[in-house]
Amino acid sequence: MKTARLSFTLVAIALLAGISGAQPQVAPLDEQYREIAGRLIGAALVDQDGWEKLSYLTTRIGHRLSGSSQLDRAVQWAHDGMKAEGLNPRLQAVKVPRWVRGRESAQVVIPVEKPLRMLGLGGSVATPPEGITAPVVVVGSFDEMEAMGRSRIRDRIVLFDMPWDGYGRTVQYRTGGAARAAKFGAVAVLVRSVTGVSLYSPHTGEMNYDTLTERIPAAAITVEDAAWIRTMSENGQTVTVRLAMEARALPDSDSANVIGEIVGRELPGEVVVVGGHLDSWDIGQGAHDDGAGVIAAWQALTLIRQLGLQPRRTIRVVLWTNEENGTRGARAYRSALGADVASHVAAIEMDSGAERPVGFGFVMPNPAQNAPASTRLKQIAKLLEGIDAGAITTGEGGADIEPLMRDGVPGLDLQTTQEHYFDWHHTEADTLDKIDPRNFRRCIASLAVMAYVLADMPGRLAN
Ligand SMILES: [Zn+2]
Repeated sequence: MKTARLSFTLVAIALLAGISGAQPQVAPLDEQYREIAGRLIGAALVDQDGWEKLSYLTTRIGHRLSGSSQLDRAVQWAHDGMKAEGLNPRLQAVKVPRWVRGRESAQVVIPVEKPLRMLGLGGSVATPPEGITAPVVVVGSFDEMEAMGRSRIRDRIVLFDMPWDGYGRTVQYRTGGAARAAKFGAVAVLVRSVTGVSLYSPHTGEMNYDTLTERIPAAAITVEDAAWIRTMSENGQTVTVRLAMEARALPDSDSANVIGEIVGRELPGEVVVVGGHLDSWDIGQGAHDDGAGVIAAWQALTLIRQLGLQPRRTIRVVLWTNEENGTRGARAYRSALGADVASHVAAIEMDSGAERPVGFGFVMPNPAQNAPASTRLKQIAKLLEGIDAGAITTGEGGADIEPLMRDGVPGLDLQTTQEHYFDWHHTEADTLDKIDPRNFRRCIASLAVMAYVLADMPGRLAN
């Protein structure tokens, strides 16, 4: 009796195993794509053309603020280059804000005369022509400013000397400091540059006013000068600064997103988009931010095409315009899609600099999709383990793919070691010489493999 039951159980197990074994076994993605990934990585690691493009963009064209002639040149140059490569480029017209820095300066006038290295913040208004001369009140946080109250802030220049606490938490003083200080009657703000490390470089970046308070000028000074002013004031010595800025907003300018693609062989209407932003601030060369991102994405398509690969779906590269001070390019791209946004199976952004890539962060529209997506992405990422770029984590997406992600498109961002990115970010020092060509090539390889497999794999990320 016992024996009979046991053998019945064994038969049942054998039958079940047989049934499941009869279903088609799908090889994991890393097995399916190992050969093609090897060719893509091999081509990227010896690629010279991508570096030459990046060199041209950063050293010959230079920085590329929205509305500048350099950005116009970059748009045309990228379009012509993609055309020569057969990437079917088109320009998507976008109206962009135009902010012009003009001449600007800051100096301490009391108790000593001392120039301050500074950069006006993007979007700031000008001072009167004679400048603003006022005593500086130093605060380390919004709470500290609010505790001081209007009587100690009014008619003063507020210096936000906040400690570095990572970019996301620290940048609120740059973006919102002027509006908050204006509520207390401040006449201008200086912001300690948003960086953890400084070699006496000011860092610019976008700032915003609110509609309720007066618009007061805002500039970044160096970490070193902020520390000096704080020390002086803690020793009872009020520092008086003269700030002069000509910054102004001009009417919106014409610009464009540059879009190239490799049309899919089976599902041309389904799209994997990969890109970064072509614009930069009006200083340095916009090398890490984000020349490297747009060129790496473009070069990924160049290599896929040169290897004669045509994925099942379309791979599209987008060089978005105006990320830094408006994200109008990203919004124009999204709105032009309309309901067709559902055609986008994934959006990949590279905008964290070109230090050594470590892998990808991902965001699914619905958290219930995280598990299946993570399984598939980890299989793809195995293909990048040979270049140490095989990590998959939950990420945050990026500014240029955010409008797509908000409407249901899975988002991925290339993640790097970021050891020094924020040391150079938005400074005169964000230049080509800060990029290691070997790391840049690994970024190209990572984008090429991820974009290709996502575009070619049998199903989508979460089904
Ligand atoms: Zn950027």
